[in-house]
Amino acid sequence: MKSKKSWLLWATIGLLAGGGLAWLRTPATVSTPTTSAPTTAPAENIEPSLTQRCRDAAATLEPQLDPTFSVLVDPPFVVAGNMRTTDLAAHMEHSVLRPAAAMWQAYFTHQPDQPITVLLLTDRGVRPGEDKNPGYAYRTWSQKLFGEQAANSYGYYEPDRRTLIMNIDTGSGTLTHELTHALIVYDFPDPPDWFNEALATLHEQCRVEENGLVGLPNWRLPALQQAMADGALRPLADLVTKNDFRTNQEGLNYAQARYFAMYLQHRNKLREFYSYYRGHRDNPVAAIEHVLGKSMDDVEKTFLAWVKTLRFE
Ligand SMILES: [Zn+2]
Repeated sequence: MKSKKSWLLWATIGLLAGGGLAWLRTPATVSTPTTSAPTTAPAENIEPSLTQRCRDAAATLEPQLDPTFSVLVDPPFVVAGNMRTTDLAAHMEHSVLRPAAAMWQAYFTHQPDQPITVLLLTDRGVRPGEDKNPGYAYRTWSQKLFGEQAANSYGYYEPDRRTLIMNIDTGSGTLTHELTHALIVYDFPDPPDWFNEALATLHEQCRVEENGLVGLPNWRLPALQQAMADGALRPLADLVTKNDFRTNQEGLNYAQARYFAMYLQHRNKLREFYSYYRGHRDNPVAAIEHVLGKSMDDVEKTFLAWVKTLRFE
């Protein structure tokens, strides 16, 4: 089932050579409604006011950029990048719209009612010399727009501004990761860190399908397998109950959470766990036992045995 439907507005702001601002309104894909459209189907739920707010956000953003930028609007997204419109549109389709549609199909019942801004920065096309400094455009624009140092080399999400800023030259994995954080909160407010990061990291290396994102082994696996071999991995029950994700072995927590989400997906239980846990967030152990139908000890054993079978080269 196609998740993007009907009267989708695809508005483009183009910076004209003369410095003017043009709105190009192109009718988007008009598809026939599905026979059993879910009540939460993406585009049908977009209020005109959200479209207007996205246009307003784009119009506010555009004067802060320079003529190398293109800006595209597809509610709830406002996507800008220092590249040609066709290149930006390709990034937007591949790394924003398709993953978002898949997340809405897979888990998130409620969609954003406010604009989400995505800034994609590339060093291609920057002045000679600046391109010898990887991440130059990303760091420069992070400073220019927000007055702050970029948090890392890849990209980050600013919840207060509802803005993702990305060094797109490093690939799209971080974008899909941060996009997960930007979208989940409209459906699962204030999600526990372990689960928020479990889903986001699952998505950073995945195959995007129309009805979901299928996680694949990635660079976080070797550290997890090494910790298992060393007997240094803490029990899963601790990870999901102790509320110390950021302060106690954070790197390993990411890996353990990611591969537990991938294990749930492997058991075809991730979708069910998401919706059940959202309603029972105070007792994650009981939620895991309920959805997987076995004790936490048994879950842990089968989870770890499965992790041992994975390979990442
Ligand atoms: Zn994250």
